[in-house]
Amino acid sequence: MTSTKRLPQPVTELWDWQLEAACRDIDPSVFFFSEGERGAARTIREERAKRICETCPVMLRCRAHALASGERYGVWGGLAEGERRELLNRLRAETRAESGTSERALEPQSTGG
Ligand code: SF4
Repeated sequence: MTSTKRLPQPVTELWDWQLEAACRDIDPSVFFFSEGERGAARTIREERAKRICETCPVMLRCRAHALASGERYGVWGGLAEGERRELLNRLRAETRAESGTSERALEPQSTGG
């Protein structure tokens, strides 16, 4: 009998959470900027999208997806693209700092002299 353990997970299981999304029936233009949108118009649209995200039962799953997959555009999981970039940069810096700390801990200590 052939094993199915190594087959990829069915795609529906990866995306099932979207069936519960609060944005499911909302115009995507609320979540994604249109060409030329800037300043206050962008801020107002993003705040509207984030208010929807705040009510969403799958917000953390959505955010995790957007961060893991590197979604470049739009509001996902209550974060706009710039906020996701900042969060990822901060997490990478923290990871680098932690690994630097642990690597330094392994270095031989000077006894002075
Ligand atoms: S968190 Fe926001 S963008 Fe993500 S599924 Fe929910 S409503 Fe949509």
